[in-house]
Amino acid sequence: MGGIFGVVGKDDCVTDLFFGVDYHSHLGTRRGGMAVFDGEYFNRVIHNIENSPFRTKFERDVDDLHGTMGIGCISDEDPQPLLIQSSLGSYSITTVGKVDNHDEIVKKLYAEGRVHFQEQSGGRINDNELVATLISSKQSFKEGLEYVQDTVKGSISVVLLTREGIYAARDRFGRTPLVIGHKKDTFCITFENYAYLNLSYSFYKELGPSEIVFITADEVKEVSPARDEMKICTFLWVYYGYPTASYEGVNVETMRYNCGKLLAGRDDVDADIVAGVPDSGTAHAIGYANESGIPFARPFIKYTPTWPRSFMPTKQSQRNLIAKMKLIPVQELISGNDILLIDDSIVRGTQLRETTEFLYNSGAKKVHVRPACPPLLFGCKYLNFSRSKSDYDLITRRIIKDREGENVSKEILFDYAKPDSKNYKEMVEEIRRIQNFSSLRFHRLDDLIESVGISPCKLCTYCWNGQE
Ligand code: SF4
Repeated sequence: MGGIFGVVGKDDCVTDLFFGVDYHSHLGTRRGGMAVFDGEYFNRVIHNIENSPFRTKFERDVDDLHGTMGIGCISDEDPQPLLIQSSLGSYSITTVGKVDNHDEIVKKLYAEGRVHFQEQSGGRINDNELVATLISSKQSFKEGLEYVQDTVKGSISVVLLTREGIYAARDRFGRTPLVIGHKKDTFCITFENYAYLNLSYSFYKELGPSEIVFITADEVKEVSPARDEMKICTFLWVYYGYPTASYEGVNVETMRYNCGKLLAGRDDVDADIVAGVPDSGTAHAIGYANESGIPFARPFIKYTPTWPRSFMPTKQSQRNLIAKMKLIPVQELISGNDILLIDDSIVRGTQLRETTEFLYNSGAKKVHVRPACPPLLFGCKYLNFSRSKSDYDLITRRIIKDREGENVSKEILFDYAKPDSKNYKEMVEEIRRIQNFSSLRFHRLDDLIESVGISPCKLCTYCWNGQE
């Protein structure tokens, strides 16, 4: 996924930029970057943050960077922000989202015969460079940013630093958020709205879908108005978002309590304790426990002193090992107990199966699993939701492939998404069997939507029901 943050003010902005970007560290694990304009030149630092957190990697750079305007990011994919020289002038750009029609755009630009790109290791072209090329091909930043919104399939929000101020453009359907904070003579623009609170900013404005603004130390000017149609990512509340974040006025932590409450309302299982897989599962479990009256407990605890969230190698086998190393059992809470375990979701199922085995090995009698969202059936094409390259990474799709063969129609997949269908029930039972859970019951999509509490037509639910 990734996160972005920018500051424009009258005094040096680097400290605010550093802490503002750092507060997005839960959204990505690969690269961090900051770029500032010092009144004459743009300067930039990018570091790999796979093996140590953003703060550790960048704290020395804070003393070397100077400027009153800057942008930064936590990136799950390409190095950024990029520094660009173009006919529009020099600028720096950072983005969040995914260019799903990357190849189609590259082909089109080559056919126009005007471009080349820097090739990255592995033959990739940096999505930020592609977006910058689209912008620079137009007569103004306004035209260029609108062109990106209309050309990119997927979802791209852009924060772009010029010599005069910062452009911020929320993606076409508002799948990811962008919020402006304000304090004296300074504005910031941020993905996560809590990132500015401890830096003394207060809420100024949340950008609407497609909205483009130009921000200086003195004002926020509307460049292009918001469009009505919105499809904000529902997974932000279920999994991605930090508990203190709010999107469209709905706080992540309280939404997770609602999920747990509605899950409990449909459940009749006996359990001795309710537990959540940390971190996001914990809040869902608190909601479940409060509603059901079954006590909340932490039968295993994450060892955070040496295992920060950002230590996340790219190899799946290493990621699994680390997931296991991080969790330490509290034997007294596990031994002889029936445990109701809530995780935010089941993607591949590997980690949850290992966690369940680990509970059985520590003496649990039963492990009932309650994912806080419906079965994931469609790979996300709008954000880099996971590093999955194929829908068959999803446990659901592997089971459906075994049952239906390779070429399964959309209609059949839609049937598997209906919680009352025979296909759905048999798929869930198969997941339960493979994963060795004592019982398994997923959150329903209607309950998930109710847990968020905003109009369903404003929410993206594609990964569960395939509806665009
Ligand atoms: S498909 Fe799922 S993960 Fe992707 S934007 Fe939609 S709700 Fe979010």
